[in-house]
Amino acid sequence: MEAARRLQIDLTVASERPSTFERAMPDALLTLGFEDLRGAVRQVREFSHRYPLDAALGVDDDTVALATSINQALGRSTNPLEAVFAARDKHLQRTMLAGAGVAVPRFALHAFGEPLGTVADTIQFPCIVKPLRLSASKGVIRADDDAQLLAALGRLEAILGEAHPAECRDTTFQYLVEEFIPGYEVALEGLLVGGELHVLTVFDKPDPLDGPFFEETIYVTPSRHPDTEQAVLIECARQAAGALGLREGPIHAELRFNEKGAWLIELAARPIGGRCSTVLRFGDGSVSLEEIVLRHALGMPLLSLERERSAAAVMMIPVPGAGVLEDLAGVEEAKRVPGIEDVVITAYRGETLVPWPDGSRYPGFIFARGERPELAEQALREAHRRLRFTLRSPAG
Ligand code: ADP
Repeated sequence: MEAARRLQIDLTVASERPSTFERAMPDALLTLGFEDLRGAVRQVREFSHRYPLDAALGVDDDTVALATSINQALGRSTNPLEAVFAARDKHLQRTMLAGAGVAVPRFALHAFGEPLGTVADTIQFPCIVKPLRLSASKGVIRADDDAQLLAALGRLEAILGEAHPAECRDTTFQYLVEEFIPGYEVALEGLLVGGELHVLTVFDKPDPLDGPFFEETIYVTPSRHPDTEQAVLIECARQAAGALGLREGPIHAELRFNEKGAWLIELAARPIGGRCSTVLRFGDGSVSLEEIVLRHALGMPLLSLERERSAAAVMMIPVPGAGVLEDLAGVEEAKRVPGIEDVVITAYRGETLVPWPDGSRYPGFIFARGERPELAEQALREAHRRLRFTLRSPAG
């Protein structure tokens, strides 16, 4: 919304639940059923007779398909719907990418309740079990042997049983088992324009992500990995986007690299989530990722897609434990650490903090900038050391 304000674009915000202010601001707020694409598109057509719309933009995995349908109805150049569905469904995505020869982990689809032997036969340890349609690594668990696999499946089934229907829709009875891909991981932000991938940035993830759970911590850019390896990673993302049939708009890809080369772990047809995009600035340093995405959605000139020169880093603050947040001290001290741009706490006092794999919400974010990536990363770690969480056990 801030990016739209800066670009002087009028926004209509659609949500699944009605807003109290909808009557007072009928042009700015709209309630739509996100899963009923046809119904929602019909409603948007009617709405646009009264309040003309130029383009739609999805802000997360769930809304991208709807935005694509709306853009098709508006006659905009957009992605094929099948491509967007494939980007959202982990099994469909694996199947399409493997079929197109993109390097993805070996995988198998299973249903809860199948005998363990049947599942273990399809995979070698270490393996990963994961839901088909959650995000932020929720429910993604590594298992190194039969006993861990059994425990992981029990845990995933419980997570899906408790998940809000909007989170996983009708995909709760199946799961994926995959080969665990060792190596370092990066996240790539890109923008597809007419089928061509423009790489906006490659983030390193300097903390090891070896499991058993996959809570993110630090993202740093520019990448410190050799240019040759980055080129291979970028090529893998480019192939994956092409194989899924994506042609327009932002992509966010997680990739791993090891002695066998680059591996596509996941590709989403949306920009990076949470507040992480705050560290990205383009051109003269005043242009945000959201501005680029909005400009592209509306067919406005893109100006520079070059990230500014300084290094930038963000920490998704680790959940300090399971419990109710009673107090958090040290935020002001953390903000004073040289190189720190901001510390944003999104958790509130009284909130129940849930660690991974059951949880998917970080208590906050720390943002840093520096001459070099290692300095920005160091600043994040120093700032984080100044935070002191007090938790109370959920029972009392
Ligand atoms: P989500 O969409 O919930 O983020 P992902 O499939 O991207 O789920 O998995 C989350 C994280 O788990 C990845 O970023 C990666 O660190 C780890 N991971 C997932 N699958 C594998 C795999 N096959 N091998 C190694 N790590 C994996």
